[in-house]
Amino acid sequence: MAIRVPHRLLFIDGEWREPVLKKRIPIVNPSSEETIGDIPAATAEDVEIAVGAARRALTRNKGNGWASASGAVRAKYLRAIAAKITERKSELAKLEAIDCGKPLEEAAWDMDDVAGCFEYYADLAEGLDAKQKAPVSLPMESFKSYVLKEPIGVVALITPWNYPLLMATWKVAPALAAGCTAILKPSELASVTCLELAEVCREVGLPPGVLNILTGLGPEAGAPLASHPQVDKIAFTGSSATGSKVMTAAAQHIKPVSLELGGKSPIVVFEDVDLDKAAEWTLFGCFWTNGQICSATSRLIVHESIAAQFFEKLVQWSRNIKISDPLEEGCRLGPVVSGGQYEKILKFISTAKSEGATILCGGDRPEHLKKGFFLEPTIITDVTTSMQIWREEVFGPVLCVKTFGTEDEAIELANDTPYGLGAAVLSNDLERCERLTKAFQAGIVWVNCSQPCFCQAPWGGNKRSGFGRELGEWGLDNYLSVKQVTQYISSEPWGWYKAPSRL
Ligand code: NAD
Repeated sequence: MAIRVPHRLLFIDGEWREPVLKKRIPIVNPSSEETIGDIPAATAEDVEIAVGAARRALTRNKGNGWASASGAVRAKYLRAIAAKITERKSELAKLEAIDCGKPLEEAAWDMDDVAGCFEYYADLAEGLDAKQKAPVSLPMESFKSYVLKEPIGVVALITPWNYPLLMATWKVAPALAAGCTAILKPSELASVTCLELAEVCREVGLPPGVLNILTGLGPEAGAPLASHPQVDKIAFTGSSATGSKVMTAAAQHIKPVSLELGGKSPIVVFEDVDLDKAAEWTLFGCFWTNGQICSATSRLIVHESIAAQFFEKLVQWSRNIKISDPLEEGCRLGPVVSGGQYEKILKFISTAKSEGATILCGGDRPEHLKKGFFLEPTIITDVTTSMQIWREEVFGPVLCVKTFGTEDEAIELANDTPYGLGAAVLSNDLERCERLTKAFQAGIVWVNCSQPCFCQAPWGGNKRSGFGRELGEWGLDNYLSVKQVTQYISSEPWGWYKAPSRL
């Protein structure tokens, strides 16, 4: 049955609104390359209106706005959103799959995570009430001090296309839980489910202006949002190049930013592993979500003594990956998101070849799929550390490989990257895993697995992968400002200056 993509407008101040310039952007299904609808394209004019709405919602009715609502009240809305997402799970998963090419089962998994994340931050919103006025112990008895955690204010949330609704949720849920009001700007390449989130917010009666959703192009909608003086913070997930622009825009107003950027994460496989288990984790770590994961462990560093056998296993397991339309049952690799991305990945592969690397398997369009942005899972060997394929993020189903002899060599190769998002180690020697865990220059480490992600645990990178942590309590702190309150409680005068003589 054909899935209809709803025709939506921008979501501002609790209502659907036509973009001021009435522009729209086509939605292309990456499996069929057909246009299946369009999304509104916001510009600076819409940003202006949305920021105004978010600011009013923050402190509406003289202090009776979202910022001053109790955590318990905010939690009620977050739980209602979670319930609606669960109710619409199957439809939302299908929309996600046709919009960005994600296999349907993965998209359904994302929807569970979306609902779970809203639930989780509902709990944290409630917990925040009890954490207010936490006392600070002072070395002077004449003072007492406590801490208030207050919402930062109006926040801009700018997100990518690889987990369209989930990446948005990682920001929207904690921002709203903290008492911030927000403007979400999803990626122009996959915004459909974020517009459905708007409909969900409307249905649950989220107060107008608390969450505004502006779809549109980066330079036309994202840039004016990032540089808007009435936006108090920017939370950004996307490429390092755009992250740098966002940070520059924020710097003009000394505005806080949190940046979740790209990666080129390593997976180190030692000689003592079960080869089949290790092969599956290695492929999952790089080819899940069609290889378009910021934390993809896309550099395999394998012990030289098992390399030949391991390559054979990887090729056998790769052949079993079902590449198909994401809606087909059992699909494990769908198309990449767009024609532009497809060409970019092919260029990475041809450059690797021209630099002397070997394509162990894949590297091309699967023979049985004549249309769509489909690529075979690709493994590249004979790689040197100066090659582009070793150094740059591909963001597609491409794994590059190097071998190592000693543990020190493995660590050196693992950290040989300007990025620092994830890292994985596979070995039966847990002491060795611990040594590598400490040595990895990364914000996330996986031991004997790659990629699992839980909304309770912190997420984020070091080096050129950005800074700040999403998820868990750290995710909530991203949207809170800490206010110190110190009170003089002694009945004695302060006594620093000489008191004037009494008349
Ligand atoms: P992108 O940087 O092209 O776009 C991200 C968002 O920024 C989009 O909404 C885009 O419209 C917007 N944008 C573009 N130009 C802008 C500007 N000048 N000012 C403000 N906003 C602007 O990234 P993408 O291609 O959508 O996503 C892929 C990238 O995201 C990869 O590098 C990937 O590693 C990264 N990513 C990181 C994480 C993480 O958690 N670290 C998660 C997912 C994706």
